[in-house]
Amino acid sequence: MRRRRGILRRRILPEIHLLGPGMRILRRAHALFARGAYSESAALFENLAVESRRRGYPRSFRLLLQAGRAAILAGNISYGVDLLLQGLKLLYDQDMTDLAQQRGEQLIVELGQQGLHPEAERVKTWMESVGLDTGSPGKISDGRIPGFPALPPNCPGCGAPLRPDEVDWIDPQTAVCEFCGSVVRGESR
Ligand SMILES: [Zn+2]
Repeated sequence: MRRRRGILRRRILPEIHLLGPGMRILRRAHALFARGAYSESAALFENLAVESRRRGYPRSFRLLLQAGRAAILAGNISYGVDLLLQGLKLLYDQDMTDLAQQRGEQLIVELGQQGLHPEAERVKTWMESVGLDTGSPGKISDGRIPGFPALPPNCPGCGAPLRPDEVDWIDPQTAVCEFCGSVVRGESR
């Protein structure tokens, strides 16, 4: 049976953990990614993820996914997919299965778009091995969700690129950055 996408029902991740030096490093990691310095960006995201995970923060998954994306774009493909799978497993292990499924499907699409079909297959195989539906990921496009407001392009706190399907919606107008916990208001259209 197909699970419903739990955008609004998603568990809200309450903690804001990346204050002070962590926040500075996070901003730098996003800036490096934005300007194509993927290898350095990947290393920063991974270090943040390790630290965040050591402290038991649920948001660590997001850092792992971004580290994986950056590593892949840097050409470190197999290692990048390892990081993506670590991020998905973290979600799954924390019982955030709706989110694991949504992000897994999204990654399958992204990897396919980059021509990385064996890597997409690795993600799919893992999802199937834990009983997550891999559905029909062709539906996912630019991250817009009907009925939800547009967001500013970047998080005011950490500079993360914001996509409506990659934030926590706490009400229909208000989202929380998955990286740093900053609250972002949607822009009415
Ligand atoms: Zn942020």
